[in-house]
Amino acid sequence: MAALGKIVWVIGIIAWYFIRVPFDRRAKRVRVVSNRRSPVDMFGLASGLLGLAIVPCFYVATGIPRAADYPARPWVLALGAVIFLAALWIFRRTHKELGRNWSITLEIRDKHELISRGPYAFVRHPMYTSFMLMGLGQALLLSNWVAGLAGLVGFAVLFFLRVDKEERMMLEIFGPEYRDYMQRTKRIVPYLY
Ligand code: SAH
Repeated sequence: MAALGKIVWVIGIIAWYFIRVPFDRRAKRVRVVSNRRSPVDMFGLASGLLGLAIVPCFYVATGIPRAADYPARPWVLALGAVIFLAALWIFRRTHKELGRNWSITLEIRDKHELISRGPYAFVRHPMYTSFMLMGLGQALLLSNWVAGLAGLVGFAVLFFLRVDKEERMMLEIFGPEYRDYMQRTKRIVPYLY
């Protein structure tokens, strides 16, 4: 049963990679006009990568740490699969809407446009919403306390190290337009936070 959760997680993470790659390639062709890449942000990114990809990959490949395994339950796995699928769908939508404005770190691109449609009409950081849901899906799909929860921890480190800086950067560039947008939207959970 636990193996089923691992298989679904592996399929999910491969799909994630194939959603990201074409956007990464396209965005790299757009000139960066302001780069706020910082050691703190790089640390956040590394934490996200470690928690959402490296630790669970290692677990799926080796079964380590075995002592943290717990019995899998079908309904938990099913819920995890649904949440992971939702995360992938939101992830794809955010890339489509952000298009050439997307960056892996804090950057402003040439002719940067403020996006507030599609998923961006509900929350200001829907891509981070999708990371949170991926973390939640991982926690339910991998029946192991360490490998399962690593994703949510990695997401939290990335998100909380970045979000204030990102919003400050957007305010600096878009001024009142972003201030209005902030008043209309929450950060990652519609109507709540
Ligand atoms: N925080 C957003 C975007 C993540 S990608 C989300 O979670 O969906 C990070 C880059 O996206 C930042 O460097 C910034 O330049 C850009 N960005 C963030 N919000 C944006 C918006 N509403 N419109 C356009 N670009 C945005």
